[in-house]
Amino acid sequence: MKTKTVKIGSHLEIGKDFVVMAGPCSIESLEQFENTAKCVSSLGVHMLRGGMFKLRTNPESFQGLGKDAYNIAKQVKNSIGLPFISEVTDPRQIADMYEVVDMFQVGSRNMHNYVLLKELGSIDKPVLLKRGFSGLIKEWLLSADYIANGGNENVVLCERGIRTFETATRNTFDINAIAYIKENSSFPIIADPSHGVGKTSLVAPIALAAAVAGADGLIVEIHPEPEKALSDGYQALDFAQFEELMMKLPQALAVNDRTLAKL
Ligand code: PEP
Ligand code: MN
Repeated sequence: MKTKTVKIGSHLEIGKDFVVMAGPCSIESLEQFENTAKCVSSLGVHMLRGGMFKLRTNPESFQGLGKDAYNIAKQVKNSIGLPFISEVTDPRQIADMYEVVDMFQVGSRNMHNYVLLKELGSIDKPVLLKRGFSGLIKEWLLSADYIANGGNENVVLCERGIRTFETATRNTFDINAIAYIKENSSFPIIADPSHGVGKTSLVAPIALAAAVAGADGLIVEIHPEPEKALSDGYQALDFAQFEELMMKLPQALAVNDRTLAKL
């Protein structure tokens, strides 16, 4: 099925050429986000990612800087000059976050949060809808319709791994979903190999596999010092590892005659 494109700002179009979003799981400090943003931007990334509100399984775990991250995000995205995506976890955050983000991310745990989806359907900013870790593709597409039917058709899907009987990896990245969505839906789809595998050494192979399967982009977690990360360090790439992935990507994209989006 022909993929509809989703515009981010004035020049970026998801669903056309391949788009890479990268950054830390969580924004931890100005220094950490700025250093990461500088590195990924120098490697040709199109968008910055960085969690501000974190939905953690353990209530004792770091929950994100919340509103304290707004100024850090604004400062860094303006100085680097790249659009910024971050997860919204509650409809009450939308009004303030609207001034900070260029794309709202709906996390895996909120794919079924229809109140949040409807609210995002009533605004004009693009939305990245992650697949629930127990969500059927059918349910995921209906969640996308909740947003689109409200009038906001700027929805991009993100496969981030599902829960299966397998425990060797954090999740099982469903490569089928990439090819299936390309064939059966007009929403663009990107891949999140970081949560899909939950292990640094496996991120690049699955990122490349997703590109070959036809994904329209990637969202990848990067940290200057993964072992010190306040969330998801075990799946973060350091700068050298990310550089290696970026060098290999063009070859994977060439399989489908695709290229990285121009900056
Ligand atoms: C994230 O992107 O950091 C995140 C929490 O992802 P997910 O919702 O896919 O678990
Ligand atoms: Mn994460």
